[in-house]
Amino acid sequence: MVSQCNGNVMLFLSSALILLGFCNWKRHKKDAIPYGRYRLKSSTTKILIPAKVAWFVQELPSFAVPVLLIYQSGGLDNLGSKLLLFTFCGHYFHRAFIYGCFTRGQAAEISFVLKSFIFCALNGYLQGHNLIECTKYDNSWTTDFRFLFGLLLFLLGMAFNIHSDHLLRKLRKPGDTSYKIPTGGLFEYASAANYFSEIVEWFGYSIATWTFPAFAFAAFTAVSLGSRAVCHHRFYMERFQDYPKSRKILIPFLF
Ligand code: NDP
Repeated sequence: MVSQCNGNVMLFLSSALILLGFCNWKRHKKDAIPYGRYRLKSSTTKILIPAKVAWFVQELPSFAVPVLLIYQSGGLDNLGSKLLLFTFCGHYFHRAFIYGCFTRGQAAEISFVLKSFIFCALNGYLQGHNLIECTKYDNSWTTDFRFLFGLLLFLLGMAFNIHSDHLLRKLRKPGDTSYKIPTGGLFEYASAANYFSEIVEWFGYSIATWTFPAFAFAAFTAVSLGSRAVCHHRFYMERFQDYPKSRKILIPFLF
């Protein structure tokens, strides 16, 4: 099938992603996006989706859209497609099919799930179209320092992200919705260790792919999760008098 890169759409979506990230930072540094501990209990829209269903539904497009694009393009015949399937789709396969199954989080409002679904579909298209149609790697890319270093960062970030999410899950028994002080792993150094490792993951991805859309997603993730990390840290400091004073907000030893 003949297909071609839609450069203007890629540029527009990537720039919009960066802008959205900074708007999130400005707007949600004080009032976090209303899901999880910040869900507005007084909200008038009362349609709630159980967390397991919500994570599956909202994250699925980030896996399914790139897989469909790979299929439509004729399969894994170029390095971009292989890289996309291994990194981006690997992450979202875990997020939709595995993380969702085990979460002990709270139900989410339907409006939040719908917005996240649309975001994941657009970003799935952006990253998929970018690597399949717009980026041509030559064979030497697999030995390039940027590819190897980026892939290593991605894998390290993903491992620490899964571990950090596991530590949070272990804080609760099924049915419990209370909050405790996270301990172990990178949580000893930062209140939002799961966000820190997710950010490392996407910067690794952007280095390994060396493209603007991938960088835009990493920047979006950093500023969006950064603002939420500020809220989480404040939440812990206000709620727990014995919260470790040396613990940073997001980046161990630095911030
Ligand atoms: P949170 O850290 O807010 O919560 C993760 C889970 O752990 C939730 O089920 C939450 O329950 C529970 N939890 C958190 N803190 C505690 C605590 N102190 N005591 C007991 N339970 C706790 O993460 P998010 O839900 O925002 O994100 C989940 C994953 O998705 C993360 O790995 C994150 O990196 C990723 N993500 C990525 C984004 C991106 O832009 N790439 C955007 C958003 C998330 P509850 O729901 O009840 O609060």
